[in-house]
Parts: sequence; C-alpha cells; structure tokens
Amino acid sequence: MTRSSSETPLLTVDRLTKRYGSDVRAVDAVSFTLQRGETLGLVGESGCGKSTTGRCIIGLERLTAGTVAFEGHDVGSARRAELKLIRRNLQYVFQDPYSSLNPLMTIQATLEEPLLLAGVRRRERRDRVAELMQLVGLAPEHANRFPHEFSGGQRQRIGIARALALNPKLIILDEPVSALDVSIQAQVINLLEDLQDRLGLAYLFVAHDLSVVSHTCDRVAVMYLGRIVEIGTRDEIFDHPTHPYTQALLSAIPIHDPDKRGQRRRIVLSGDLPNAANPPSGCRFRTRCWKASEICAATEPILEPKASGQQAACHFAPSKAD
Ligand code: ADP
Ligand code: MG
Repeated sequence: MTRSSSETPLLTVDRLTKRYGSDVRAVDAVSFTLQRGETLGLVGESGCGKSTTGRCIIGLERLTAGTVAFEGHDVGSARRAELKLIRRNLQYVFQDPYSSLNPLMTIQATLEEPLLLAGVRRRERRDRVAELMQLVGLAPEHANRFPHEFSGGQRQRIGIARALALNPKLIILDEPVSALDVSIQAQVINLLEDLQDRLGLAYLFVAHDLSVVSHTCDRVAVMYLGRIVEIGTRDEIFDHPTHPYTQALLSAIPIHDPDKRGQRRRIVLSGDLPNAANPPSGCRFRTRCWKASEICAATEPILEPKASGQQAACHFAPSKAD
C-alpha cells in the first residue's frame, strides 16, 4: 500500500488461466497490465481465448488459476463492498448488439437498469439516461423505443451507453464493431475514441484481426491458442513484428501507403487452429509456422523481451541480450 495510485496499473492480469472441463485450456497463463486511459488491443483468431479472458476479468467466469487485480486490489479476494466498486469501474460491451439488448425493454429501461441497481434516484436516473444518449449520439426523445426500432450501429451505441452509465474507468470492448456493416464500423470506432478523450477511459479492445486496432491502440497483445505470443507498443507490433503469427496477421491488412506496399508479402497460414483440448507440443504455433524446426516441437518458447523492444514467444526472434 506504499505505492501511489498513479504507479499502480489500472488492471493487472497475472497468469490468468481458464479451463473448461479437464482438457480445454481456453486461456493459459495470460499476463498483461493496462494503465489509466490506455487502450490495449487483444487480437487473435476466433477461438483463441479473447472473450474468455474478458469474461474472467469482469467476473462472468471463475478463473481456474492466476489473478486479476483492479487498481492493485485482487478481484478474487475482494470483499463485497470493494467488489461492488470494482464492478462499477469495469464494464463490458458485447460483440453482438442484436442479442445483447433485451428486446422487451425500452432504451430508457435498459439504460436505467444499472443506475437502479446502484441506488440512483428516479429523477437523477432520468436525467442520466438523457445525458448518456446524448453522449453516444442518440436522440434522448427516442428513449421509449425498443431495440428493434434501431439499426445495428445505434444498438451498439446503446450498449456503449449502458456500459458508461456508472462512469467506469475501464471498458472491455469485445469485438465491438465486427457485427456491424463496414460503413458503420468507423463511426462507432470514432465514437469510442471521442469518449475515451472526453472521459479518460481505458479500453481492452478485443478484435480478431489487426486492422481494427491499427489506429486505436497504444499497445497490442497477440493471442494464439490461449496464450499471448507477442505484446508491445503499437509501433513495435506494426512496424517490426517478430512473431511469425503476428507477421501473418499483419500481412492480411491492406496497405494504403503505396510506398510501403512493395515491402510486404501476404502470408497465408496453412491448416486450421488446432484443438484447444489437444495443443501441439512445444510451440503451439509450430504446426502452421514456416520457420518451425525441431526445437519448436521440443521446447515451448517463453514470452521474453526481444531486440526490437516488444516481448515475443518465438525461438527465432532475436533476444534483447543477443
Ligand atoms: P475467442 O473469443 O477468441 O473467439 P473464446 O474465449 O470464446 O475465444 O473461446 C476460447 C476457447 O474456449 C475455444 O476453444 C472455445 O471453444 C472454448 N470455450 C469457450 N467458452 C466455452 C464454454 N462455456 N465451454 C466450453 N468451452 C468453451
Ligand atoms: Mg470472442
């Protein structure tokens, strides 16, 4: 308790592990921190454990092992009153704005619900709902409408407004735009960036490819089969990725700058994501990696600092000490 709050990360995830049954290791010893006001992108193919990580952080799932601490307070051992405060500060926006809103509840009722649970009085609730709708670019006079009367983008705005209701410090955005039309995606991302500037929010921004997070994130963590295989600043990851999996994900992004276009070739990974219940020995990525050799099957590479600044788990990326 001697450290000042400005030094303590907002969120500290330490060796978070989640198993389903005895076999499926959906998330395996994942560690990262998140600072106030920061955006960390969490990227990887479908099934690699991104949503499970998010759900464990907000307490929707119990961890099998590891810890999650919010402002230095261990969430797992927090007492009731403390947990209530943590929950207020930690919100979640779901991927699918169609199924995440109750179709039988008006927007007014949807946005009032968290306020009601927090004991906010009726008059203030009504004012806050109007304020929230304005904050996300919706007309407060539409508060009595039902979800089906809104478009996908508007529904996601409602989901964001609900997450904002209690003034959180951190929002987990679980693929917040991947269910939306491409033309709407940029609007919602702009809204999220604008809200971050105005409210000082931190985001854990989950995405299945790197293009969505290329502009919004301060740092990026790349996941493969339940593990972080590379983590670093946005520039480290985008300008000189060291893990072959990151390189493959990056090669799939269209390049708009004609000067840089010639420098990158598309890497198409062969094979499917292996079953999380039966991951390959050694490096989990080796069955799809063009660099794989004997050492990769024998020894699992650890996530460690590399020469180019970021941390990566690959035998072939030059270490900092090399
Ligand atoms: P992502 O969000 O990256 O697509 P998930 O976290 O949803 O990945 O899933 C990670 C792994 O855990 C997958 O193999 C998935 O099948 C498995 N999984 C997720 N939820 C459950 C569950 N409730 N029961 C059993 N397995 C699950
Ligand atoms: Mg998911």
